[in-house]
Amino acid sequence: MGETLTILFLAAEAEPFYKVGGLADVAGSLPVALRGLSPKMTGGMQLDIRLVLPLHCTAQSEPQSLLRTNEFPVYRRGGSIRAQVFERDLNGVPAYFITGQPILNATSIYSADPAADREKYIFFSLAALELSRRMGWRPDIVHANDWHTALALYTLRARRGEAFFSRTAGLLTVHNLPYMGGDASDVLAAYGLAPLFEENLPSWARSQPLPMGLWAADAIVPVSETYAREILTPDFGCDLQDFLKQRANSITGIVNGVDVNAWNPLTDRRLAATFDADSLGGRLENKTALQKKMGFPIEARVPLLAMVTRVDQQKGLDLVFEALPKLAEKPWQFLLLGSGAPQLEAAARSLQAKYPERVQAVLRYDANLSRLIYGGADMFLMPSRYEPCGLGQMLAMRYGCVPVVRATGGLKDTVEEGKTGFLFARADVDEFVEALQRALGVYASQEKWRRFQRNGMKQDFSWTRSARQYATLYRCLVPEAVPDPE
Ligand code: ADP
Repeated sequence: MGETLTILFLAAEAEPFYKVGGLADVAGSLPVALRGLSPKMTGGMQLDIRLVLPLHCTAQSEPQSLLRTNEFPVYRRGGSIRAQVFERDLNGVPAYFITGQPILNATSIYSADPAADREKYIFFSLAALELSRRMGWRPDIVHANDWHTALALYTLRARRGEAFFSRTAGLLTVHNLPYMGGDASDVLAAYGLAPLFEENLPSWARSQPLPMGLWAADAIVPVSETYAREILTPDFGCDLQDFLKQRANSITGIVNGVDVNAWNPLTDRRLAATFDADSLGGRLENKTALQKKMGFPIEARVPLLAMVTRVDQQKGLDLVFEALPKLAEKPWQFLLLGSGAPQLEAAARSLQAKYPERVQAVLRYDANLSRLIYGGADMFLMPSRYEPCGLGQMLAMRYGCVPVVRATGGLKDTVEEGKTGFLFARADVDEFVEALQRALGVYASQEKWRRFQRNGMKQDFSWTRSARQYATLYRCLVPEAVPDPE
């Protein structure tokens, strides 16, 4: 029998319970992939990983499928707040859902009120740590994700004096560096957390959850190798680059995988027609269904360009809105699925008003439509200003939709120019137009296009490789947990 490594995995969102962006895909599938690794892949270790999520209001309509398993107070100035814990299984991974007043107060996963979000996620992070203690289940690793749960690592470091947490290491996966959580001084004080004095951190960062977590973490994992390098530079480091450079030995880039069972064009019942790399003809049915649904002229050979994205400055939508008119002479249709920043949504509407026959902006979240897009559109546009990993391009390739992306972060690490997609270097409209022209040129030859599609569909985007990298890192963080001799 090998040893067991215990991992408490904390996240704000996870599929299939709640999803806003890529974090949900990761938190819903990485723990399952880790738990599924054979001992051979983990150096003889068994990984006992448990997922902890807030019980957001969006799930509170069906708590009957959840089992209430724990209840305890979390200290807050002038008293305490009760945390209640519910439990259920996620494909073999125990999933715990925490609720309590700050979580009940919120009407969405991320609100427009940053102060309320800070209160909610600090409460959640503290309650999640306390949960492990209440269960008498000592984590070897606390694996936090993004700013929402970063303070669990800060607290962990403060509680290392307690026997229970004395051997627990902290790992922080960084999915999006610019989202740091804002100034949490008030709420830190309210929950009894001491301020951070660290000269190496800029003073503004010392009270923000993400930098505090970066300071406290034993290991920092940006979600691609390129992003791990980029955040050490002024262009991507959000003014933390000097601090991060000092922590460079603790930084390891690990690219995300995708849940290849949940995302399989051969079995996806939400497509109009299923297909695989050997039956790509089936894609046309999806394209036709998509064109019909969107009110586009049904044209098999007019390239259908698409985006499925949060509508955010990060995603380079402004480049798309500028680039497409420059290609107005060429035939194309463009479909945007996404919601977010009002200004960018308005710009999408204006583009649609200008080209009503060939542009559709569907400004909402729609999981079903996203699948039909991946399975029916020809090109997937991701001209991101920065992209820590990006899942859209991997899902697109898996469904035979060829990506045209900016060579940054995980896009650079997962898309190969001239083989699986088209890349451009700078966030510059002319470079983007040029990449689109290259893509349109290849699209003109059905045979060449099919080669791109097949190359993309053959890529292995499963979690296995990344999960093994995480397992290796976990083992490095717990040095005494050496594997049994073979
Ligand atoms: P990010 O995490 O920055 O939002 P990613 O590319 O990593 O970007 O992940 C985005 C995920 O969210 C993908 O699974 C994508 O399909 C999904 N998604 C984004 N916007 C929408 C939308 N409007 N409707 C459906 N799915 C969406």
